[in-house]
Amino acid sequence: MTDIKCKLLVIGAGPGGYVCAIRAGQLGIDTIVVEAERMGGTCLNVGCIPSKALIHAADEFYKLRMFADKVPLGISAKEPSIDVTQTRQWMAGIVGRLNQGVEGLLKKAGVRSVAGAARFLDGKTVVVETGDGEQRIRAETIVIATGSAPIELPALPFGGDVLSSTEALELTEIPGRLAVVGGGYIGLEIGTAYAKLGSEVTIVEAADRILPQYDVALTAPVEKRLVALGVDIRTLAKATSFSDGNLGVEDGEGVAADKVLVAVGRRPRTRRVGLEELGLTMDRDFITINEQCRTSMRGVFAIGDVTGEPMLAHRAMAQGEMVAGIIAGENLAWDKAAIAAVCFTYPEIITVGLSPDEAETAGHDIQVGQFPFQANGRAMTTEREDGFVRVVARKDNGVLLGIQAVGEGVSELSATFSLALEMGARLEDIAATIHAHPTRSEAFQEAALKSLGHALHI
Ligand code: FAD
Ligand code: NAD
Repeated sequence: MTDIKCKLLVIGAGPGGYVCAIRAGQLGIDTIVVEAERMGGTCLNVGCIPSKALIHAADEFYKLRMFADKVPLGISAKEPSIDVTQTRQWMAGIVGRLNQGVEGLLKKAGVRSVAGAARFLDGKTVVVETGDGEQRIRAETIVIATGSAPIELPALPFGGDVLSSTEALELTEIPGRLAVVGGGYIGLEIGTAYAKLGSEVTIVEAADRILPQYDVALTAPVEKRLVALGVDIRTLAKATSFSDGNLGVEDGEGVAADKVLVAVGRRPRTRRVGLEELGLTMDRDFITINEQCRTSMRGVFAIGDVTGEPMLAHRAMAQGEMVAGIIAGENLAWDKAAIAAVCFTYPEIITVGLSPDEAETAGHDIQVGQFPFQANGRAMTTEREDGFVRVVARKDNGVLLGIQAVGEGVSELSATFSLALEMGARLEDIAATIHAHPTRSEAFQEAALKSLGHALHI
């Protein structure tokens, strides 16, 4: 096969890579994107999208189960049932539509796509294992966007009844007993969904509490609802083995389980990419980048999960867009005020910017205002009153440093929280903004008012 040449080569078409390629195409850069599996990467195919679809299906099913148990709304429903095969077909349909959407957007932007796994020969050349043999591609600039993969525990290798998130999103039956190793993002999102679908779920978490990356105030409502769902939470517990339907736990009682989901973090996908040919500076297995996502080699950029935490799709996309601009000659650098993190638990958690502890550790003199959903009319009308919105601001001038919330549907407040931080809003700005009534967003305004000493509804 003859070599192909281009100005920009993007390796990996996940949220980081495909956004970078689309933007580069829009900017008139001759771009090729290479993808070993399916367009859209982890997020679209085996991550964000199917997991949120499963969570939605589980929520709907659980609601019906609750109605069968007679909630106080006066609605009743007969014992509901679920056909998981149909649910999975519906999930696959959404993924398929988005796959095609990404392919279409790349085409529209004039980006060429090559299917296969790419491996570096040197800083300007890769070889791609395509279905028709090896294809060499030479490029002036290369962006590495190879993403991440689930971490495998040596004592619990994936296979059979030991699942990674990918297999857990593809089950054709609801497991009777599901053990979840790791009470982080994935373990809790998927574990809660199966608990709502009727599995008996046990969470085995090595730290002293679930979601240890968040403060206790934010995780307490989630823990309470997990307990109400009948989920058994084992903390300070490490899984050691799985055999004959028993998950061994270090210094503790084993857990009887039909399936085990192992969700103990993700590792960068840097193996088999030929990175050793480049000798890039690395931070453990992650690729080290500067504020322009440049690696230690001239003309080679890296974006997304392969560059480390936070491993979030919207961060990868923002990096991809920025890098395309830099390659087109724009003078850009990473200067985002904050990257929102949402955990789609029951109820949801959102954090943007600094928590009170983080702000104090960073040396800020702070004021904190918190408003509970118990005092919010909209929350009462939707029967979900647990949780709160909390604002963290500088004491001297009221400039917001961080916003956190836990409660039903708070993920949709992420835009307003991020905008407030990005625009450098002060408490007075939020307090003086009219928030529509009755909405959960009023709790944001009230938290700001509370911090200023004059909350109206508490
Ligand atoms: P990836 O999406 O991993 O894409 C990398 C792509 O590169 C893949 O398609 C891969 O096939 C390809 N590739 C790898 N090596 C090669 C090679 N040598 N040649 C060619 N192609 C290659 N994030 C959120 O923000 N919100 C969520 O709700 C959320 N939910 C998640 C749920 C689950 C179950 C999981 C697993 C993850 C979730 N994430 C979520 C994280 C999110 O999926 C990642 O942060 C995001 O996908 C990272 O994008 P990326 O482009 O860096 O990499
Ligand atoms: P995580 O880091 O969120 O959680 C892993 C958990 O496993 C931690 O609580 C850790 O203490 C625990 N753990 C580690 N080793 C253990 C062991 N041997 N036994 C028991 N517990 C152990 O990782 P994850 O849930 O696998 O998710 C990976 C990444 O994917 C996240 O960091 C996140 O960036 C991304 N993600 C994001 C979302 C979202 O944005 N809503 C959803 C899913 C995944």
